[in-house]
Amino acid sequence: MISREDMVALDAADALAPLRDKFELPDDMIYLDGNSLGPVPKGVSERVKDVVEVQWGNDLIKSWNVHDWMGLPQRVGDRIAPLIGADQGEVMACDTTSINLFKLLAAALELRPDRNVIIGQADNFPTDNYLAEGLIRLTGGRHELRLIEGDDIIGAIDAAEDSVALVFLTQVDYRTGYAQDMAAVTKAAHDAGALILWDLCHSAGALNVSLNAAGADFAAGCSYKYLNGGPGAPAFLFVAKHLQDQVQQPLSGWHGHAAPFEFERSYRPAPGIVRQLCGTPSVLAMSALDAALDVFDGIDMSVLRAKSQVLTSLFIDLMEKRCGGHGFTLATTRDQTRRGSQVSWHHEMGYPIMQALIADGVVGDFRSPDILRFGFAPLYLRYVDVWDAVTVIERVMLEQRWDKPEFHLRAAVT
Ligand SMILES: *Cc1c(COP(=O)(O)O)cnc(C)c1O
Repeated sequence: MISREDMVALDAADALAPLRDKFELPDDMIYLDGNSLGPVPKGVSERVKDVVEVQWGNDLIKSWNVHDWMGLPQRVGDRIAPLIGADQGEVMACDTTSINLFKLLAAALELRPDRNVIIGQADNFPTDNYLAEGLIRLTGGRHELRLIEGDDIIGAIDAAEDSVALVFLTQVDYRTGYAQDMAAVTKAAHDAGALILWDLCHSAGALNVSLNAAGADFAAGCSYKYLNGGPGAPAFLFVAKHLQDQVQQPLSGWHGHAAPFEFERSYRPAPGIVRQLCGTPSVLAMSALDAALDVFDGIDMSVLRAKSQVLTSLFIDLMEKRCGGHGFTLATTRDQTRRGSQVSWHHEMGYPIMQALIADGVVGDFRSPDILRFGFAPLYLRYVDVWDAVTVIERVMLEQRWDKPEFHLRAAVT
């Protein structure tokens, strides 16, 4: 039987343990929602203050050159690149995930003009499919979004054969935490003659993503989850080097122009990844993200991934041992190679239980219809946090603390 002392010993032996100190975390909270909004790394507020007071405040318009504000999207993109297995010059920090997905969807479809099927996931995060629907409407309904139920994407690609233009997937399912095998699915897409676009929202910063090793074509993701870039932080996108000059994207704004300050009358795309830009970057938000990425300096993503797998496995074990009789059913796979950095449970009282947990300092979230979601960010979570979280969950269930009227009232954001 595992004890709290075992957890203390795991923390003492954890090479990543000192990183917790690089974050501002409230003392009275076990934060298991870094998959939704990462906590603020130390150094971010000083950086934002400096950008406001010195750069914006004193240097004003000169800052575009003096502080190279123009270069921020690419500089920050180059810092995200090693975290997702991409090379320098393949990643841009820009826009939102939703906008980047739209740009890349359009870019990809243009490369396969004689094919009309987009394979997607029925249970994908809704914005992804909404964007595909919007693009299809815009192109006159020429394409079909074929949504696959369940996780067998490869079977669906094989069945569709040579009509598939694009396979468009989120690597880690936001509800269940199921992690697709990026290399195998990418290969299946390519074998069928299709391109692939990966949404990395729940992978970047938590998994050892290897875009180039898998041969991926396109990817996008957000940086306010495991990358801790702050609420609404600029997102990122990836285009494989060999495709960069072949693609065009539809939001052909001036920052993606070959010579933005020539103010030419017509659009001419910049070479390389730069053509993926649209308009002026949000300098304050981009600076916060840049500073937040410092915590990843020198981190081996496979060490991070290994810790995340142990954290999630221990949480599943302890929940089953200590809360087994309380009606939770595991929604996440037990296969740790196919598990993202979260563990989800179905429970018919999921919503009020999560509200009671949050009131008692264990912060996860609830996803409709009945999922309690717990994210395990290996940069700042301790093994004892897993133990202590289960202790709180056990108490909430034993004492039925969730059954108070206020915990049943739905807030706007769950
Ligand atoms: C969080 C998330 C998004 C969010 O997109 P925004 O444009 O940042 O709102 C998109 N897709 C997936 C899969 C997500 O998990």
